[in-house]
Amino acid sequence: MSEVTHRGSCNCGQVRFEIEGKLGKFGFCHCTTCRKASGTAFTANASVKRARVRFLTGEEAISRYESSPGVFRCFCSNCGSPIYKEKAEMPDTIRIRLGILDTPVGAKPLAHAFWGEKADWYDLKGDMPAYEDWAPVLKDEVEE
Ligand SMILES: [Zn+2]
Ligand SMILES: [Zn+2]
Repeated sequence: MSEVTHRGSCNCGQVRFEIEGKLGKFGFCHCTTCRKASGTAFTANASVKRARVRFLTGEEAISRYESSPGVFRCFCSNCGSPIYKEKAEMPDTIRIRLGILDTPVGAKPLAHAFWGEKADWYDLKGDMPAYEDWAPVLKDEVEE
C-alpha cells in the first residue's frame, strides 16, 4: 500500500478514516438527490477504491440510505454528515464526500453535472463546462 494522502471525519468525530493514493476526478453534481442528500446546491464527490479507504473509528455508526435503486448514500448515524456514496454495481469503488476531508484535496473541480436540475438560486457557473445531465469529463477513472 502507498502512504496516507487524505484524512477525513464527520462533524461529530465518531467516523474517522484515511485514504491512500490519489482521489479520482471530481465536479459538482446538481442533481435533485445530491441536493437533498447535501442540503445545499450541489455535492462534490471523488471516486476512490474501497480498499484504499481505512476507517479508524466509527465505521459501524455509518447508516445507508438507498436514494435510487442500487445507489446508497452513507452517512454518520449520530451527526448526519454524508460520508460517501456507493453503487451496488461498483462494489470496489466508493465516492467520498470531499467536504468531510480534513486534508487539502489538491485538485480543482472539472465540470458541473446535472445543471438541468440545479437549484434556481444557484447560477455561479464560473469557467467550468456545465452539462444538462451526466458530465462526460467526470467518467470514473480510479487508481487501483
Ligand atoms: Zn458523526
Ligand atoms: Zn447527483
